[in-house]
Amino acid sequence: MIRGGRGIELKSPSQFLAMRRAGLVVERALTQTIAAAKPGATTQDLNDVAADVIASAGATPSFLNYGAGPSMPGFPGVVCISVNEVIVHGIPGDRVLQEGDLVSIDCGAIIDGWHGDAARTCFVGEPAAELAELSRVTEEALWRGISAVRRGGRVRDIGAAIDDWVSEQERTYGIVTEFVGHGIGSAMHQVPDVPNFRHSGRSPKIVPGMALAIEPMLTLGDPSNVTLEDEWTVVTRDSSPAAHWEHTVAVTDTGLWILTAPDGGEEMLTKRGLPFGPLGD
Ligand code: MG
Ligand code: MG
Repeated sequence: MIRGGRGIELKSPSQFLAMRRAGLVVERALTQTIAAAKPGATTQDLNDVAADVIASAGATPSFLNYGAGPSMPGFPGVVCISVNEVIVHGIPGDRVLQEGDLVSIDCGAIIDGWHGDAARTCFVGEPAAELAELSRVTEEALWRGISAVRRGGRVRDIGAAIDDWVSEQERTYGIVTEFVGHGIGSAMHQVPDVPNFRHSGRSPKIVPGMALAIEPMLTLGDPSNVTLEDEWTVVTRDSSPAAHWEHTVAVTDTGLWILTAPDGGEEMLTKRGLPFGPLGD
């Protein structure tokens, strides 16, 4: 394993190709899970859809039993399903989805030891306009962050771009600061941290071989939050809704490759004048 500065894992082309396979499983699992987010479905039903997609692809879910330790139960689901005021790490269960619910689904999968990680926010039926806008602004925050990934730039440029985009909005949105993006590869969570806000100080240089999971979380109200007694579910203190979008982004020799986007990010990157740098055939 090649290690870059500060222990950052740099991937070979074949390792990126394995991550791409994992990323495409995650993409399919999210797409099918979102299609199942109908009124009357439980969050467990959605979890089971994702579990089927991952198993039938011969992949392993990254989240199931994640974090298990002496004082901590492992995560009990295959996906995190975070409804309305839940920001992240919602545990699938008997919660019944209702018309208008905002649902953030976070999924990770492993193939040959290599991880993909992505999240999307969707709606059950028709969302209220302000919820649709919250999700749109969060998804664009993700793409602003991705657009700041440039060779020779710094990881902190990502948070600055997200912060700037959120500040530009007429409405005030909260940026969740306690949970951040991360390096990803032979483990789901690796260095470096990828904060979703502007910060100063040292920050790793962006070089080919890096893979980063970029994942802004925005709230309609105050972003301060609390973890429930189940030790996983993170909710806003003011019960305001939150949205969450995430992609796994590879930095290749020729540009960016969005490992969890069906087209590898070609359309969005090209539209923004950014180099699309896929590997393989
Ligand atoms: Mg995730
Ligand atoms: Mg992640």
